[in-house]
Amino acid sequence: MLSTTPPVTARHYTLTCPSCGLQTPDDGLVLECPQPHAPALLRTQYTTRTFSPRAEEDGVFRYRDLLPVSRVPRQGGRTVVYRSQGLGGLLGLRNLWIAFNGYWPERGAFLETATFKELEAHTVLARLPGRPMVLTVPSSGNTGAAFAWACSRQQVPCLVIVPRAAYGRFKFREPLHRCVTLAVIDDGDYPDAISFASKVSRSFPFQLEGGVKNVGRRDGLGTVLLSAFEEMRRLPDYYVQAVGSGTGAIAVHEAAGRLRELTGETTVPRLLLCQNEPFTPIYDSWRHRERTPAKNWPEAECRAAIRQVFADELTNWAPPFSVQGGLFDVLTESHGDVLTVDNGAARAALGTFRDLEGIDIEPAAGVALAGLRAAVRQGRIRPDSMVLLNVTGGGRGRRTQQGANVQAGIHVHLSKQSLGSTAAMDQVTEQCLRSL
Ligand SMILES: [Zn+2]
Repeated sequence: MLSTTPPVTARHYTLTCPSCGLQTPDDGLVLECPQPHAPALLRTQYTTRTFSPRAEEDGVFRYRDLLPVSRVPRQGGRTVVYRSQGLGGLLGLRNLWIAFNGYWPERGAFLETATFKELEAHTVLARLPGRPMVLTVPSSGNTGAAFAWACSRQQVPCLVIVPRAAYGRFKFREPLHRCVTLAVIDDGDYPDAISFASKVSRSFPFQLEGGVKNVGRRDGLGTVLLSAFEEMRRLPDYYVQAVGSGTGAIAVHEAAGRLRELTGETTVPRLLLCQNEPFTPIYDSWRHRERTPAKNWPEAECRAAIRQVFADELTNWAPPFSVQGGLFDVLTESHGDVLTVDNGAARAALGTFRDLEGIDIEPAAGVALAGLRAAVRQGRIRPDSMVLLNVTGGGRGRRTQQGANVQAGIHVHLSKQSLGSTAAMDQVTEQCLRSL
């Protein structure tokens, strides 16, 4: 089933629970600590004592000693990190570095689906045990596209469940392999996809990917910082990213902790996370500096706010804020902060980036750039600070121009009303069993 090449050392890491201290080998699937306590994110603990990227690998598996993988497929690009002249000059930052996730051949960036979700997809697949299952991934768009593409290339059966609004992102340079099943909820939202995926995954052969709980996903995203460390030769003072769930930010903070241990760095980057007004649940929670959010957004208010944001991929309704090891903890430990930007500033940032750096970026990256600009204007960042700006969704326009425009077919149409029915489950199961 899995197209694999050399196995890596099976015991180069263990999983640990930050709540009860449990230490356990990884079966490639586990998402939660089995002990009865409040939710906590399992973490990986690696045996390597040095930071030694594999020079022979170009992609994300260059960092295989710091990835929870049991095999190393010949797949996967990685983040390209470079020092900005144009934007750095505009913002008055002498040490602005761009972590570019996307497609930009002149810079050596070759992420096929043009977002950093591809880093997590390749790592999650390489963590899976090699037995028959259908990996089940609910998504608002970019994550689903990254998994669909990676699973197609590696012929790993998967079920991707998305709301109709996300379907436009499923364009690739060739048709997807039949092992990928795309289910679209015609009148639903991202939370509907999450809820249906959870229901489907209670029975064989479905295996829930797990989102932020999956150590493969987080450590794959953490390679953004590993690539940055290789180029910058130190950790940045500030790490700036737009957030929906915030999984990437948690991952970068965890990677910073590992690099600090392995390289003797003394501090970890301050996380500056950016949200798109008016949908700002992480900002609202962090403003009160309490683990338990002061306000739960009512569903109607969520839907109304989501309809107004420019960067719709940043609209996670239930970000992992309170869970141990989640956003509250990483913001506290890194002395970080959360900023908000409006649609006008985010939209303007797309043009600024294209003009000064020379490539198109997507709305989420526009939110991050607008947030950085606001932070500089407010005097929060000194001109000589080392700043790393995470840009995801880079060069998608370029990629489409160059032929990545084959729209994937929809295998199963679902309606919101049908999601609780046996017929919907049967329809999805029947389609997926054909792919095993
Ligand atoms: Zn535990």
